[in-house]
Amino acid sequence: MTDIRKIALVTGGNQGIGYEICRQLGEAGVTVLVGARDETRGQDAARRLSEGGANAAFVRMDVTDPAQVRAAADAVSARYGRLDILVNNAGVLLPEQRPSDSGAELVREVYETNVFGVIRVTQAMLPLLRRSGDARIVNMSSSLGSLQLHGDPAFELGAFLMLGYNSSKTAVNAFTVLLAKELAEAGIKVNAADPGYCATGMTGYAPTRSAAEGARTPVRLALLPQDGPSGGFFGDGGPLPW
Ligand code: NAP
Repeated sequence: MTDIRKIALVTGGNQGIGYEICRQLGEAGVTVLVGARDETRGQDAARRLSEGGANAAFVRMDVTDPAQVRAAADAVSARYGRLDILVNNAGVLLPEQRPSDSGAELVREVYETNVFGVIRVTQAMLPLLRRSGDARIVNMSSSLGSLQLHGDPAFELGAFLMLGYNSSKTAVNAFTVLLAKELAEAGIKVNAADPGYCATGMTGYAPTRSAAEGARTPVRLALLPQDGPSGGFFGDGGPLPW
């Protein structure tokens, strides 16, 4: 029998904002595939989501490993035959302070997950997303990737000058815009989300904003109606500048 629930894959879905995206999509009746690079952490997250009432399963996927990404696409294809929602959430922030200190190797390492991982997973899942007929792609970006905000002296995160991390999100925004244009005719919406500055492992749990609050915008973009936008960059307050 065809599964009439929407099927979503969330990369890095085992903790932080990704886990909350899985939980909120599960609450909305979506079948969630928890992408995780670590089997124990991924299985544990899928179990907790299932215990909370979600229809959840673990999919092993290190986004930097092309063979694992291909195997994950094959597994989703064999089990579900299609994908309705892809949330490219997996991301890393490595220790870096100033643009003059971020060596090319460090920048490359950040890009391997935050940029090439997003491109790799999206391209691998695209045949499955095309079979949905009404698919959504959400790329996790950050206001730190906004060149316009960095040009504003009043930008509240303007002191964070991480060349690798910030520019990786600028690149994700570029991928979002270009892909959205290409996929418009296929009816696939592609948007970038800024979750806001949230308390997760990535931020040392320093901010007061919760991961659940951070998940709200990506979840909204994942569930956009047919007349919703594509090729945009959004936060809780609406569109953000590039
Ligand atoms: P987090 O708690 O550190 O979670 C990151 C997730 O990504 C983890 O599940 C991690 O897996 C996974 N991951 C990292 N590298 C991976 C790889 N190579 N393959 C597969 N999974 C991988 O961080 P978060 O704050 O929830 O961040 C989620 C997304 O939001 C990221 O893209 C981040 O850049 C973005 N974001 C966060 C904030 C914020 O304030 N927190 C603000 C703006 C944007 P493991 O558990 O195995 O490490």
